Amino acid sequence: MRSRLLQRNLRSDPPLALSGEGIFIRDSNGKTIIDGSGGAAVACLGHGHPRVLAAMRAQEEKLCYAHTALYSCEPAEQLADLVLQDEPGGLTHLYLCSSGSEGTEAALKMARQYHLERGEPQRTKIIARRQSYHGNTLGALAASGNAMRRAPYAPILSDAFSHVSPCYAYRDRRDDESETDYVARLAAELEAEFQRLGPRNVAAFIAEPVVGATLGCVTALPGYFDAVRKICDRHGALLILDEVMCGIGRTGTMHAWEQEGVAPDIQVVAKGLGGGYQPVGGILIGGRVVAAIRDGSGAFMHGHTYQAHPVAAAAALAVQQVIREENLLENVQRMGALLGERLTERLGNHRHVGDIRGRGLFWAAEFVTDRATKQPFDPALQLHERVKAEAYARGLACYPMGGTIDGRQGNHVILAPPYIVTREQVETIVDRFGDAVESALAGLP
Ligand code: PLP
Repeated sequence: MRSRLLQRNLRSDPPLALSGEGIFIRDSNGKTIIDGSGGAAVACLGHGHPRVLAAMRAQEEKLCYAHTALYSCEPAEQLADLVLQDEPGGLTHLYLCSSGSEGTEAALKMARQYHLERGEPQRTKIIARRQSYHGNTLGALAASGNAMRRAPYAPILSDAFSHVSPCYAYRDRRDDESETDYVARLAAELEAEFQRLGPRNVAAFIAEPVVGATLGCVTALPGYFDAVRKICDRHGALLILDEVMCGIGRTGTMHAWEQEGVAPDIQVVAKGLGGGYQPVGGILIGGRVVAAIRDGSGAFMHGHTYQAHPVAAAAALAVQQVIREENLLENVQRMGALLGERLTERLGNHRHVGDIRGRGLFWAAEFVTDRATKQPFDPALQLHERVKAEAYARGLACYPMGGTIDGRQGNHVILAPPYIVTREQVETIVDRFGDAVESALAGLP
């Protein structure tokens, strides 16, 4: 214990990450590690991409900062043009901030302001889902349904938020229930929540199209988001989709919602936007929301000192150009399919691996004591942390998550390699991950 930097764990210091190249990070113990989850699904281009570094340097030489109350800047304008080319799903504008949590805050406030502008000040309620994660700032945490992260702060979280069930078929679909019936049950639950709150009091519904940190790469069943979209439309509420983790190509399409056949009114993005080269996040905003504010008060009542930061925008612009010009979404689809296939081959029959799930280059394994009962392990075992440590010892970084999730203990570990990952590297990742899981689970009852 020598670090004066407040670490995530105050009882032990992590190694230093010294340098990075491609999918590898070198640490202060002299180890070279495969960044198998790109941090928390962030490093979509891997490390040290020359084009992104050059773009950042060029922008730094020209201008590092100018306040948005006075100026816009070239890279932010170009980034907005690129990301919103062809206005995907009717999304027409980009607001840039510095993180996913800030993006969620902006989305929530924009939804509220949209209704104010339209003369509906009574719309103060937000419906979110249990076992979700939208960020750690107080507003974003209030939206989040991650019980473990909420618990210490519950007394100071806003009560404007309420939570319904996520679409988590692995655990929550009943044996005697078809997928269609399960989706209908979830839709009925959401409808009932609108009725409980008073449908005209609801400003927005927020959800992750593919649930990231809290559940581990859980996709919705077909028809779920269509049903959600229809309920929001019926009651005049906005649909906010949080694609901080699953967006910007991570699941094989630029936006995860493209695979659901519905578009949001507001979309939160972050991690893959700047690929970790700079702290950058944002919201993509639908035309009718922008129009309501432009034709109403004329200004979004929100903002941050570092919004649309020139160097952050230049980094994100270069990352987005590389993804498009190098056709990386195709690699995400091909390598993602391979990753899923190999994980299933290697661990699909393991007695303690309950589920292997994902989409694109976004995969997770969930661990259980018994595959039939799906009983989670004793929380004291911290199984996800054990898997992480075993994997690191084998030269693989992965993203573990566990804890009391909505009253239920669960353990899963996410793999989310950079979009540049090769076939051979996927094989190595699965070998190391398989060995790590087998070793961590060995000897457990
Ligand atoms: N939303 C989702 C879906 C996330 O996964 C995260 C972070 O993991 C956030 C929001 C918060 O992003 P940040 O950590 O950049 O504030």
